Amino acid sequence: MAQRPEIIFPLFKPVTTLAGVGPKIGGLIAKVAGERIVDLCLHLPAGLIDRRFAPKVAEAPEGLIATLTVRVDAHAPAPTRRLPYKVRCSDETGFITLTFFNARPDYLKAQLPEGETRIVSGRVERYGAERQMSHPDWIAKPDEAENVIGVEPTYPLTAGLTSKPLLKAITASLNLVPDLPEWLDDSLLSQHQWPSWQQALQAAHAPQEPEDLDPNAPARQRLAYDELLSNQLALALVRQRTRRTRGEPLAGTGALSRPVVDALPFTLTDAQRQAIEEITADLASSDRMLRLLQGDVGSGKTVVALMAMLIAVESGRQAALMAPTELLARQHFKVLEALAAPSGVNIALLTGREKGKPREKLLNDLADGTIQIAIGTHALFQEDVAFKNLGLAVIDEQHRFGVHQRLLLAAKTNASTGDTNTLLMTATPIPRTLALTAYGDMDVSRIMGKPPGRQPVDTRTIPMARLDEVAESMRRAIDGGARVYWVCPLVSESELVDLAAAEDRAADLRQRFGDRVGLAHGQMKGAERDEVMARFAAGDLDILVATTVIEVGVDVPEATVMVIEHAERFGLAQLHQLRGRVGRGAQQSTCLLLYAQPLGETAQARLAIMRETDDGFRIAEEDLRLRGAGEVLGTRQSGLPDFRLADIEAHQDLLQAASDDAQLILETDPDLKGPRGQALRILLYLFERDAAVRYLRSG
Ligand code: ADP
Ligand code: MG
Repeated sequence: MAQRPEIIFPLFKPVTTLAGVGPKIGGLIAKVAGERIVDLCLHLPAGLIDRRFAPKVAEAPEGLIATLTVRVDAHAPAPTRRLPYKVRCSDETGFITLTFFNARPDYLKAQLPEGETRIVSGRVERYGAERQMSHPDWIAKPDEAENVIGVEPTYPLTAGLTSKPLLKAITASLNLVPDLPEWLDDSLLSQHQWPSWQQALQAAHAPQEPEDLDPNAPARQRLAYDELLSNQLALALVRQRTRRTRGEPLAGTGALSRPVVDALPFTLTDAQRQAIEEITADLASSDRMLRLLQGDVGSGKTVVALMAMLIAVESGRQAALMAPTELLARQHFKVLEALAAPSGVNIALLTGREKGKPREKLLNDLADGTIQIAIGTHALFQEDVAFKNLGLAVIDEQHRFGVHQRLLLAAKTNASTGDTNTLLMTATPIPRTLALTAYGDMDVSRIMGKPPGRQPVDTRTIPMARLDEVAESMRRAIDGGARVYWVCPLVSESELVDLAAAEDRAADLRQRFGDRVGLAHGQMKGAERDEVMARFAAGDLDILVATTVIEVGVDVPEATVMVIEHAERFGLAQLHQLRGRVGRGAQQSTCLLLYAQPLGETAQARLAIMRETDDGFRIAEEDLRLRGAGEVLGTRQSGLPDFRLADIEAHQDLLQAASDDAQLILETDPDLKGPRGQALRILLYLFERDAAVRYLRSG
């Protein structure tokens, strides 16, 4: 197996191996940066303090940081605990008093011996007529001047960690950074005037001017590019590997898909047809498919997935569709079973809820190929589940699955047949930049727009103070036959508290409207929750009060009103998803966003965008703008990589360049064997894309 190159071993030692870093400081450093020396090297300064200003005492302006060379005149211990210990100092122009609260006199006496000269640096203040500096940041002997008089980087800290020990640890770490072979192209380096990796690290940690902290300062730019390149190269390697394992072309015959299309209760839209065509072409080729199907909520992705799965079955293979929740898996099963009925294909459902004998039978039928299409949750890919010949895996709402689950799935599909095709579906319109970091240059089909006959959802924002009025207004809507979603947000850390809020609302609405009000929340047992949802879908309930369990994928075309309480607490993407639950039928739908005052600026902007547009792509872009990339999908949930040096917004151009670069690299040196290839392997290890190195043919 491939090994981490020896030259970077020192960087992967724990920070506690540095002189002066014990377990306590090590623990604090781990919190802000990480546990290893490389983590400290990549922990870049957030600001700087300029200590180059070294005036005479009388010329030191109040409020500024100054570095003063002074004679220590006299110590005046604190008369009471509430008053400071004072040390009076001077130069030939005037006096300044250093003040210390909770001082240790012995220590101060040693640091500032009377009659000697010292350099002190800190903020100059005025107290009455007196110049003061309270708790100087630096006290040094005259021969240590060069340590003090300069520009000091400041770093993100955490409670208990002060800048001095961190600075020391970082300096020590940087001394261990070896001069590594260059992995970037010469022309790129000279085009941007980028320094070497080693020099870039040194420079990034030694900003001289505020501009040096800019994400596009050359040193920072280069480091960001390195990180992006490692990301793109790793993804490109995975894809190269996928393509190298040729698969059996799944040509299809139309025998199953044709009767299904003919019996659909609607006509496929052009966008759906186009997506189906693209997928069909992928499947018919001997390269394995890895395609992302993006389409806004309600755009009709499910039927596209069905067509793809039928082609796999026509070609003698099995297909599977994995949904992120039990609820969604069940809904898909119901919908797909009905739509696929004309084909006579054998569809089954497998989730965590199937147990005992029935589960055993399911597993047998999967293993011998009796089940042709399996719908389920990640239970589909547990260890004891084996397919006979899985040809296509569809992963719905895939951004909900973490990286871990995706890798597991990839491993599973590889192990089962070695040539499974993958279709990822997402309703969260991932902006192109983010898609690139998550998937590399993956094939993407987009379903723009919605099926015909849909009317845009009438969206209004209303202060919570008018909640009573809003509740009453539901009466007319319900009398007119409307079905209403009423969403209560997750507000506190404790789900129980949230639940109480939803329960109170349900009770309140029951008082007004009687027992045709249901409640669904995440704490309910799956079966119980499904029952409530089913009653709502069937029209036995007029109002469904819910926590955000309804967020993903639920389809009740008759629902025409969506009320969201405390809409200001939701992110844009979430609001958009929730609103997408209505406006699915031909009737006019309404979305009422109730907000608590006062509204913050960002919340206000979010609600305004919701009123303005229902274009998911536009909303996603705005979200990116308002929140910054890392948060857009909630990195942890989304499985999107978390960059340490690169800033997706500031470095968009670099990302595209890195993507192109990665492709070119693999075209010329697919196994990273040449000198630049070897250097690039080091890069992959530096950023811990070790897994990708394993995709190379030889180490
Ligand atoms: P999503 O893309 O959010 O998964 P679905 O596949 O659940 O959307 O489709 C949303 C609704 O639109 C479903 O009720 C589905 O039957 C319906 N639908 C899908 N395609 C069409 C179409 N071409 N014309 C009319 N309705 C459609
Ligand atoms: Mg869906």
